[in-house]
Amino acid sequence: MKIVDLRSDTVTRPTQEMREAMYRAEVGDDVLGEDPTVRRLEETAADMVGKEAALFVTSGTMGNQVAILTHTARGNEVIVDDESHIFYYEVGAAAMLSSVQLRPMAGLHGRDALALAGAAIRDENIHYPKTTLLCLENTHNRRSGTVMRPETMGELYRLAKGRGVAVHVDGARIFNAAAALGSDVRAFTQYCDSIMFCLSKGLGAPVGSMLAGNREFIERARKYRKALGGGMRQAGILAAAGLVALQSVDRLAEDHGHARLLAECLAEVSGIKVDLNRVQTNIVVADVTGTGMTAGDYVAALKHRGVLAGTFGPNLVRFVTHRDVSRQDIDYAIGVVQNLN
Ligand SMILES: *Cc1c(COP(=O)(O)O)cnc(C)c1O
Repeated sequence: MKIVDLRSDTVTRPTQEMREAMYRAEVGDDVLGEDPTVRRLEETAADMVGKEAALFVTSGTMGNQVAILTHTARGNEVIVDDESHIFYYEVGAAAMLSSVQLRPMAGLHGRDALALAGAAIRDENIHYPKTTLLCLENTHNRRSGTVMRPETMGELYRLAKGRGVAVHVDGARIFNAAAALGSDVRAFTQYCDSIMFCLSKGLGAPVGSMLAGNREFIERARKYRKALGGGMRQAGILAAAGLVALQSVDRLAEDHGHARLLAECLAEVSGIKVDLNRVQTNIVVADVTGTGMTAGDYVAALKHRGVLAGTFGPNLVRFVTHRDVSRQDIDYAIGVVQNLN
């Protein structure tokens, strides 16, 4: 049976070109700074996002946590959106590793971001923790892959800088944000002190993420990566695939087209609701309440017909498009959802 896997953009498999690049990769001991392929990946990534330096890390979670370790001290407060990956999906690592307090704000990824962040940053007071970091997420995973516009990021960045607070962007899918607006990724990344992005999602690499920032920040981050056990030796094998992945940022727009098509067809199916305004990139969230099925039932029914999706709440189903899903696959998935109930 045909399988169309729309559970996540992390399921992409390395391309033939990536495998060949991995096979041929020149390598050395990267802990000693001697892996030429890792160096090339770090330089290329830094250049693409307009930062002085970058660090190859094992995962997006490691990139975010190394960033928090590098920006903060024990007992500091870090402002995050209440649906952010850092708050929701990172195993409490900010408390575990950095001993910081996360301040989850409802609406930080929204219209009132500036007012909310302004109110959340603490003044000096004997009772208060020191606010040292503001984390933004772009695109926003749990908010349907929506984009925070560069202008909004600019306002938040100026506010934070004016009050001595650093800005880190969890940009796991920052290239999706750039593709959605048809702009250079630097339009976004100019407004942060550090950015993490994933090579292993829509860009299709098998493993790895990048953390970028200024040279001094990345030097300190490199030591925290080592402390977390992320000092990899002949990592050029993995970096080679990452370099190929970075050449594919322009094709993300195709995934967005597929998501839009799927969303528009889903919205026409009786019993299903999709907020089309929120379908801006490669993520589609559908409310299946009207079908009489729970999200779990609905996902099981889809699976039975060869379409894999994820539950995103009791009545919410999530579909994510990516490089390994073709237009034909999307047409197949649309046929399945149209005939499901
Ligand atoms: C996937 C993701 C991460 C973490 O990446 P991993 O490589 O899975 O650790 C961080 N932030 C966001 C927004 C993500 O979607």
